[in-house]
Amino acid sequence: MIGALDIGGTKIALGLVSPDGRILGRGAVPTDPLAGFDAAMRRTVDLYQRLCAEAGARPEGLGIGCTGPIDPVSGVFGRVDTLPGWEGSNLKAALCLATGLDSRIENDADAHALGELVWGAGRDALRLIMITVGTGIGGGIILNGQVYRGLGGSHPELGHHTLEASGPLCVCGGRGCWEILAAGPHWESWFQHTYPECADWDGQRICAAADSGDPRARAAVEREGFYLGVGLANLINLYAPDAIVLGGGVMERFDLFIGRIQSEIQVRCSYIPYGQVRLERARLGVDAGLLGAAEVWKRRDCA
Ligand SMILES: [Zn+2]
Repeated sequence: MIGALDIGGTKIALGLVSPDGRILGRGAVPTDPLAGFDAAMRRTVDLYQRLCAEAGARPEGLGIGCTGPIDPVSGVFGRVDTLPGWEGSNLKAALCLATGLDSRIENDADAHALGELVWGAGRDALRLIMITVGTGIGGGIILNGQVYRGLGGSHPELGHHTLEASGPLCVCGGRGCWEILAAGPHWESWFQHTYPECADWDGQRICAAADSGDPRARAAVEREGFYLGVGLANLINLYAPDAIVLGGGVMERFDLFIGRIQSEIQVRCSYIPYGQVRLERARLGVDAGLLGAAEVWKRRDCA
């Protein structure tokens, strides 16, 4: 049995997972980052002890997917916008001290990519890119079956590659990043500014209106599909992957965007056998974080 931990800016999910991918027990606590790292660890360890008591067993180790940047080897947090004040805290050491368990850590986007590779939509892909389009755009890259890491263990920031060099200013300091153009909240705010009479429409309402043929909502879907398509075409040109798996809140309406995405890829990827690239919606849903984290532990000897 494996302990699986999925640490995000809002909640920390913990599960006990069998080696064949069944979730035997699960729970979650609020991250409440402003209350500090130590308090979050205490809540997590309390939950861990309760789940172990219910299962009547302890896991062999902990696999962790964590919002980053975090050093996957040392377990020390870098500067994480969603976890203010946690920089310099050592996740691996804190969990080992409290539980006696060894752990393995990956960025949460990489853990999700591993989960989809082994249990979800990316099965059998040697080269897989997982993209999550939600409040931001994040991604993980698997090359030749292994998580791709950059310099010093760094995680590639696919959401911050540039689509429009003179575009809107992004939180990262750049302009016209994929994320600032196409992540859910930015898409919604573009719509609300363009159509002030719809200032209270959220993404779900825009999609529902698009289904009914509302021309404003159709234009918004067209714009979102365009930017998603341009970003994905860039990734296909750079990596020529076997599969791209798309998850996150915006991709719950994959059906609305996929046509426009494919037409952009067709125009922009003519030197790549793009027709063979599998574009699929993520399949693991709410289990993605825990199954991905469990896979991080199973691959502990590959790191
Ligand atoms: Zn950016």
